[in-house]
Amino acid sequence: MSKVWFSEFVLLAGLLAAGLLLGGLLGAVGWWLALALLIGLLRHLWQLARLEKWLDSGRQRNPPESWGVWGEVFEHYFRLQKRYYKRKKRLARVIREFRESTAAMPDGSLVLDGEFSILWFNDAAEGMLHLSSKRDLGQSVLNLVRSPRLAAYLAAGEFDQPIVLRSPVDETRSLSVRLIPYGSNQYLALFRDVTRMLRLQAMRRDFVANASHELRSPLTVLSGYIESLAEDPGIGPDWHAPVVEMQRQCRRMSSLVADLLELSRLETEELDPDCVERVDVPSLVERIVQEARLQDGDGHVLEVVSVDAAQLIGVEHELHSAFANLVLNAIRYSDPGARVQASWRVDEHGQGVFEVSDNGIGIEPEHLPFITQRFYRVDSARSRSKGGTGLGLAIVKHVLSRHGARLDVASEPGEGSTFRCLFPADRVVAQPAEELARA
Ligand code: ADP
Repeated sequence: MSKVWFSEFVLLAGLLAAGLLLGGLLGAVGWWLALALLIGLLRHLWQLARLEKWLDSGRQRNPPESWGVWGEVFEHYFRLQKRYYKRKKRLARVIREFRESTAAMPDGSLVLDGEFSILWFNDAAEGMLHLSSKRDLGQSVLNLVRSPRLAAYLAAGEFDQPIVLRSPVDETRSLSVRLIPYGSNQYLALFRDVTRMLRLQAMRRDFVANASHELRSPLTVLSGYIESLAEDPGIGPDWHAPVVEMQRQCRRMSSLVADLLELSRLETEELDPDCVERVDVPSLVERIVQEARLQDGDGHVLEVVSVDAAQLIGVEHELHSAFANLVLNAIRYSDPGARVQASWRVDEHGQGVFEVSDNGIGIEPEHLPFITQRFYRVDSARSRSKGGTGLGLAIVKHVLSRHGARLDVASEPGEGSTFRCLFPADRVVAQPAEELARA
């Protein structure tokens, strides 16, 4: 038994003993015992009254002095309360620091609840979206930023990537918006002004497109003269090798300019709905392989294996460019005479799969994440000597993303590579039975 409880019992026992003694001396033991118990009870009531008064005072002061069980109760309560205030203070400090740091952020930050209503916003958001705390707190963010794009983004609930919107207060500015879910059903919405970045990107794209366009005409003239020179029987034997080299370099520059123009077209132009059609993939694949055979000077064995009759909804010349790049790469990065296989099939999920595999040099795993970047080459010397521009896979990536498709690469150094283009099922059209019969 603890000391305080012991002293409590000793007090009660003392009171009862005093009652018994007085009753024994003066008579009426029952009354004296009742009086002793009453004194004990009054003591507890008095302590309860002190506790109540102390709680009522807002617990600002130290607890009343007491001893025994009541002293312990006051002490415990006081300690609990101190711990609670400490924790509350720490939490308030964390919230204040969070608010101060987000308030200082140059990005517009809004805290939204599960219904996307605004709970809090920082100064940058106030300026960027013309918000006012009196008017707009509690309002849905969609009432203040009226954008179908934002509505679709919020409805989809996929917040991994940001979206770009026109600013609701200034048509000439663009904002990138990203939602970060946190806590229980709350979101931090970050608005960033990306006008300058988009302008710079557009300037870069325009510059590359204009420069490539300007280079095309002089290059055509030069190529023409060099071709004539190469065919001229009058040039001396000393000139033969330099002219062949000039011819090779001119062709390389022409492919580079053509690829740059193609890439900037893919980057700048929206997919033209008039050009979207049902593409007859089997004959496209056949054509690409025929063209590759003509270009290949190293006797590769090019095969078309497993061709499904299914068609693909897309832009034929873009698909031609992507598929041809993959076939030419397979030739470029495998030994003369090696086998290259192309196929088109519909997999068990209904996806259209165009696949090119080779037994060539393969790619080390550390290079795989980068090979679709512009001018990224694992072996620049080999790429250049084989006529590569370093832009082929960047073109493939753009074409596929315009078709809602993705590229999957499996490669083993020294063993070979397989490049797979995976098209979503809703773009694949199984060929109707009567067309199949006619075919
Ligand atoms: P390039 O014109 O240099 O071929 P690409 O963009 O088409 O440029 O390809 C980028 C790089 O990826 C190539 O330089 C090469 O190193 C690697 N690569 C592409 N296809 C293959 C392949 N089938 N086998 C091995 N490496 C490949």
